[in-house]
Amino acid sequence: MENHAAIQVQQLVKRYGALTAVDDISFEVKRGEVFGLLGPNGAGKTTTVECIEGLRAPDGGTIHVLGMDARRELKLVKERIGIQLQTTGLYPKLAVREVIDLFASFYARRLPTDAVIEMTGLQERVHAPTKDLSGGQKQRLSVALALVNDPDLIFLDEPTTGLDPQARRNLWDVIRELQARDKTILLTTHYMEEAEQLCDRIAVMDHGKIIALETPDALVRQNFQEQAIEFESLQPPSHETMQNIAGVTRAQIQDTQITVFSTDVPATMAGLLALSQQNILHFDNLVVRRATLEDVFLKLTGRRIRE
Ligand code: ATP
Repeated sequence: MENHAAIQVQQLVKRYGALTAVDDISFEVKRGEVFGLLGPNGAGKTTTVECIEGLRAPDGGTIHVLGMDARRELKLVKERIGIQLQTTGLYPKLAVREVIDLFASFYARRLPTDAVIEMTGLQERVHAPTKDLSGGQKQRLSVALALVNDPDLIFLDEPTTGLDPQARRNLWDVIRELQARDKTILLTTHYMEEAEQLCDRIAVMDHGKIIALETPDALVRQNFQEQAIEFESLQPPSHETMQNIAGVTRAQIQDTQITVFSTDVPATMAGLLALSQQNILHFDNLVVRRATLEDVFLKLTGRRIRE
């Protein structure tokens, strides 16, 4: 396998009139990665992805896809990438198998239809007209259509939007299976949990810039030093007692529910246990939780991902 990056973007700029939608961004997606592109509405994600896919011409910068120049070698690039489009509604009367065959006929290199059907778990629906598919099955078909040419790099644009939790998890399994087959995946999503579950690294975009690029874990760790320790106590001690425990930066007491934020969880836990042994504090249902990607997103962009 060649050793160049799956995607290499250098100083990409894209303007719409006076608006700079993508403002001089550079990043790389490694081979085999599931790479997430997140950001609030209008951040420039779609524009960036469409430039990489060759659907839009950048105003500046260079893009390489699988080692090829995304503009000059566009024809070759297209043979090696798969783009999930929301086109399943275009052929309501065609059966699942027929639509997959139709899309596969556009390519020189192609996977057997049965392999595509199996990878996306559509075996039981091969003869169903696409209009009869459930929401989750339609989304899986749209992923299937991105796989017909056995691409090395797959673009998934909000693949699970609107799905119920079970259908979403099924699609996550499909995505994990693709990664296990050495595919590289560029994913946009509005679901923080999805990004946390699937992505090896995440780029957060805002106002046309990349404002953070890290593993989900590192994003959380770098933005939040504290962890939250939550527990219940029928007779909570004073605020001051809680604040004085080692490692605690902040304490919240709401009736019987107590949350302390700690920079040193072991020290704080030792302090809590000591108070318990001295009969000053009794606690129940204790959990230690870290900040979430949702907290990070809010901190970095000042907005929730969906407004
Ligand atoms: P969303 O999450 O809403 O899909 P996004 O991060 O994908 O947003 P883009 O669609 O890339 O953002 O849009 C970036 C900016 O460029 C926005 O301000 C948008 O209004 C503007 N824009 C996008 N496409 C065009 C276009 N064809 N002509 C003019 N402006 C555009």
